[in-house]
Parts: sequence; structure tokens; C-alpha cells
Amino acid sequence: MENISKYDINGLLFKMPLYEKLNIGITKIQKIGRSETRFENFMEYEEEIYEEKYPKDFDEIIDFLLYEDDIYGYCNKCKKENSLKSVKINVDERLLERTLHGQYGDDFDDYDDYRAMFKLNDRIDILLKKHEYFTKSVNCSHKGNHKQIFIYKLELQYGENEEKKLILQKIGQDPSNIEFHNHNIRDKYSKYKNYKNIKSDLNKAVISYENNFAVGGFLYLRRVLEKIVDYKYEEVKCNINVDNQARYEEKKVKFIEKIDILKAELPEHLTENTYIYSILSAGVHSLTEEECSEYFSVVEKSVYFILDELLQLQKRNKLNKKIQKDLNIINSKIKK
Ligand SMILES: [Zn+2]
Repeated sequence: MENISKYDINGLLFKMPLYEKLNIGITKIQKIGRSETRFENFMEYEEEIYEEKYPKDFDEIIDFLLYEDDIYGYCNKCKKENSLKSVKINVDERLLERTLHGQYGDDFDDYDDYRAMFKLNDRIDILLKKHEYFTKSVNCSHKGNHKQIFIYKLELQYGENEEKKLILQKIGQDPSNIEFHNHNIRDKYSKYKNYKNIKSDLNKAVISYENNFAVGGFLYLRRVLEKIVDYKYEEVKCNINVDNQARYEEKKVKFIEKIDILKAELPEHLTENTYIYSILSAGVHSLTEEECSEYFSVVEKSVYFILDELLQLQKRNKLNKKIQKDLNIINSKIKK
């Protein structure tokens, strides 16, 4: 299970998929030493203070509940990126007291783990009692009724040796992550000339993953890869020699051979990492749902990286053709 630090505030709202479990570490109490200026008998002097504070992750979940600053993100009603405002949740005041135990002293031995832990457990109880389910709202700064809602659940689980685990899950949201995703890919890849033919597979990959069917996600990403390679082949076929054409069109041809034939025309990320296809195939055939879910975001990034490169290649080719045409015109003028 990954940690809450996997996402920043923006990520917890807009990227975290439904039902992903994030661990909020509650064992590593932060021990901090600082000095404070004190006055006694008209004398000013510095004294060391040792404090035990919330574990970092616990700080993070409290920060998330309280967060009320502006964020830049997508408003699905405005249909564009906008300035948004996250609404603060009023938490129990005791949770705002982030120091668990503090004392003056002259050495770190004065830390009192037991007392700090006791207090932390108390705070965890308060958090769960008051905010077991909590809702973060995000408002669009453009229009008051443009609202986005994200619902979370906090839960205490017991692992081996009765070890306590605090778990955060997102259990609902409006708009769905798929809307954010669609917006992002539409924005980025709609200029890729075969976009309309892969759009539905890209969407289904994410829908599958978001609904805890990561194996399906792998299947759709593999289809995207197969399609973009075949489209490239159709595009450059006339420049390929007959033998290689026959090889490519052979029924039993392996994907890796297809890439080999088109090596010069395909994005480097794909030709240098051809095993992305084996990974996607393993997902379809042999990996477990959990494994696919764990690897999904990396293979997804890889596919998008390939698309990025395809788009750049497309732009380059277009520009190349235009310059060639212009040169030709100049050349023929000079000849006259
Ligand atoms: Zn809006």
C-alpha cells in the first residue's frame, strides 16, 4: 500500500482514483528540538525545548482537511482550467494542537514516547469519531454554482502483531475522474491525426482502472499500442520494401517484429522499450488484478509518452513538407 505522500493536495482531489488505499503513517512521531527566548528576573536567556509532534503523514491529513487555498484546475462546467478554491473543513480544535508533548530540558532523553503516543492515539480517535467520512468541496472562482465534491473515508485497520494502520480512501466524487482524464487527453492529443480511432480505447483503459479492473486497463492500453503501430504502417507503407511489407502483413507476425520493420518511423520511447508490449500482454494473460493495479500508472505514462512523441513526429513531418514545398518554389523561380 502506498503512502498519503504519493499525492499533493491537488493529487488527492483530482488524481487519486476511487478506492485506492493510502496509508497514513502514525508511528513515526516527529521529535524536534528548538530554542526559545525566556525572561526571568529581568534576564533574557535561551532555553532548549524538545517537542514531539504529529507524524508527518498525520500532519498531512489534517492539512488536507483544513486546506482552503486557491488551486488551479479543471472546472467541468466552464470546460476549462480555472482558478478553483478548496473549502476548509472545520475540524475539532484538539486536532489543531500539533504538539503532542513538549518540555524544557537539556537533552533529548527527555522525550517521552509513551505520553506522546498516548496523546496521538487520542487524536486519532477524535479524527475518526468526527471525520470518519469527510467531504472536500472545490468551488469554481468563475461561477458560484460550479461545485466539485470529493468524499473520503478514514479507517483504522489492524495488521499483523496488532499493528495499527490508518487508511485513507476516496469513496466518491463528482465530476468523475474520467471527466478530468478526458479533458486532459482531449486537450493534448486531439491534434494527433488518429486520435478519434484510439480515443475510446484510451478512455476505456482509464474507466477500467478507475473501477478496479486494471487487467482491463492493460487490455485497452495494449490495443492503443497495436493501433498506433498499424496506423504508422499504413502511413509509410509505400516507402517500405516488398519483403518487409509481406513480413508485416504475415498473419502470425509478432508485435516486436512489426516494431522492428517500422523502427525508423516510430517513437524512440517505443523502439527502445519494446517490452512495454510484453508487460501489457502479461497483464492481460498472467498478472493478478493487484499487480496490474500497481503497475498501471507507469505503463499508462509510457503509452502517453509514445503518443507525445508521435505528435511531435507528426508536427515535424508537416513542417518538413511545407519547407520542402517552399524550397521547390524558390528553386523553380531561380531556374526561370
Ligand atoms: Zn466553472
